[in-house]
Amino acid sequence: MTSDPPPGVFVCPACGSTNEANIRTTLSVPVVPPDHAWDPVFELRHCADCGATIPAHLAERWAKVDVAEARRQWESMFQATSPFQPYYWLVREPPPT
Ligand SMILES: [Zn+2]
Repeated sequence: MTSDPPPGVFVCPACGSTNEANIRTTLSVPVVPPDHAWDPVFELRHCADCGATIPAHLAERWAKVDVAEARRQWESMFQATSPFQPYYWLVREPPPT
């Protein structure tokens, strides 16, 4: 297992893509309640392939986690509780009905 990109290089823990969207988000205000899994997350990365919004510490593996561990944490803690819709950063207004 030596093929993991180094820390700091985007890997989507949801789909495995290295295709990062051309935008990064830093939250300046909380978007979830204080006891929420996403409460400590302020740096976000976005996957251009599956539309997932991902905590940067997982997408870039800041704390010496490998890709498999990042995926495990994503699936166990963040995926189901995400306050962000897929491709939310592209959404500027609701689609016409
Ligand atoms: Zn993805």
